[in-house]
Amino acid sequence: MATGKINVSVENIFPLIKKFLYSDHEIFLRELISNATDATLKLKHLTNIGEANVEYGNPMIEVKVDKEGKKIHITDQGIGMTGEEVEKYINQVAFSGAEEFLEKYKDSAKDSGIIGHFGLGFYSAFMVAEKVEIITKSYKDEPAVHWICDGSPEFTIEPADKTERGTEIILHIAEDSTEFLEENRISELLNKYNKFMPVPIKFGTRTETLPKPEDAPEDYKEETVEVDNIINNPNPAWTKQPSDLEKEDYKNFYRELYPMQFEEPLFHIHLNVDYPFNLTGILYFPKLSADLQVQKDKIQLYQNQVFVTDNVEGIVPEFLTMLRGVIDSPDIPLNVSRSYLQADGAVKKISNYITRKVADKLKSLFTENREDFEKKWNDIKIVLEYGMLSEPKFYEKAGAFVLYPTVDEKYFTLDELKEKLAATQTDKDGKLVVLYASNKDEQHSYIAEAKDKGYEVLLLDSPIVSHLIQKLEADNENLTFARVDADHIDKLIQKEEEQLSKLSDEEKETLKTTLEEIVPKTTYTVQLEAMDSNAAPFRITQPEFMRRMKEMSQSGGGGMFGMGNMPEM
Ligand code: ADP
Ligand code: MG
Repeated sequence: MATGKINVSVENIFPLIKKFLYSDHEIFLRELISNATDATLKLKHLTNIGEANVEYGNPMIEVKVDKEGKKIHITDQGIGMTGEEVEKYINQVAFSGAEEFLEKYKDSAKDSGIIGHFGLGFYSAFMVAEKVEIITKSYKDEPAVHWICDGSPEFTIEPADKTERGTEIILHIAEDSTEFLEENRISELLNKYNKFMPVPIKFGTRTETLPKPEDAPEDYKEETVEVDNIINNPNPAWTKQPSDLEKEDYKNFYRELYPMQFEEPLFHIHLNVDYPFNLTGILYFPKLSADLQVQKDKIQLYQNQVFVTDNVEGIVPEFLTMLRGVIDSPDIPLNVSRSYLQADGAVKKISNYITRKVADKLKSLFTENREDFEKKWNDIKIVLEYGMLSEPKFYEKAGAFVLYPTVDEKYFTLDELKEKLAATQTDKDGKLVVLYASNKDEQHSYIAEAKDKGYEVLLLDSPIVSHLIQKLEADNENLTFARVDADHIDKLIQKEEEQLSKLSDEEKETLKTTLEEIVPKTTYTVQLEAMDSNAAPFRITQPEFMRRMKEMSQSGGGGMFGMGNMPEM
């Protein structure tokens, strides 16, 4: 038997990288700015630990579009590269200088926020450029170099006369990518991917009006100045400690994330964990619109403050994808398929952590200020009820804060409800009967009748209630649910003597026959006996289970958010 090594030559992988590495050509900018950020953060780290004897200052990254010259320039003031380093880091495809750096400074650099790790990001430049230049000067006292490559495996490298420390990348934009020479397009990309990156990014200048001086003369003319247009907030709220933030800061950050959202969020959850995985973020419970399908502002996923995607399917449990906010984790493997993601152990842990955090927060909101929680209930119930159905981990914790409101706006937890019903609402088998209405207006007379008898009637009106009830009954042996217009109400043990109908037998018979001609006998039951004197003269009921089965088969397919199927029950 012989073994050998497959020989991958740059000649044949280069065009592949160019075409297929990233499906999205626009990410070249994100990658190059990430490298510029890394270069800056590395310098910061080296000055911090005393290994680089230079002034760190207030470095920034600048992006410039030269439409006429068909070029984009990305300039940083980071560590730069020596000629040798260009050979090592740039000319070796798939060798990551970022990874090497983290390996070398293992302990001290683990929180440095370095982004890169595959060693492929730089080459994404060739997706939009026909020629790329690097002009770079290392923080070490060595001459600057100029590297030029036209996308073939050949490159030139020569001395340069750059005097300031740092790197300038020049992209000569290819004919098929001229869209990236439009300032608007670049603005859009910066806003999408780089809005919260940790080093200030300048894109052009903007005009600012100076504040009017107090002693301004009457004919004062507004004065303006040109200032750097910094497109990012390098210190977004989620990177800070919860203890350093006020309520107002969370609201402001929400507005920063969703400038077009005018409604305030109901509450927030600050995520912050560094073991066994790294994850920070802030999630907001928005006021949900009735039409869940139009919910567009999604949770954004970041890695070290670089935007990655707003498709968090598989990472965030489905019932929480209705929330808004940011999750930042360097530990989520992203260059893999979604189906792999769902099976990945680390990702499952992250998803479980988020579920737990959300449940804990809901519990503390409930215990700290029950009244306020009750007020919000209507706006959050659908997410929570769906969570109970779809996430066993959430269901376990939900008992502590999930509420069951009555038609009179009293709110019970399940335990409180059970206690309440034990005294008044049991059937002949000793089971607690939970009466509920799904529509106050439609079931008005039934509700009135039940209340007359002293029963509590819940108002359960979300579209997935029949599924929830089914689950609660399955898990609570002594509990049975019946809608107020179901036949079940008769099975309740009555306290007082029943009143007899005022109708004669003959009248009853005619009325019954007439009614049964109108409503199908197979589905409904017409009752004339045992009616309360002050209630309606007759009652039409339907077996609880028949209606429920029908409802479940209607709301079952497709999932309530149109994103998947309801769990099996
Ligand atoms: P990665 O970022 O995953 O390490 P890249 O292909 O994006 O891989 O970059 C390769 C390497 O080139 C980087 O790790 C870094 O060492 C070097 N490099 C790229 N851009 C710069 C820059 N602007 N300043 C300094 N070094 C850079
Ligand atoms: Mg990179």
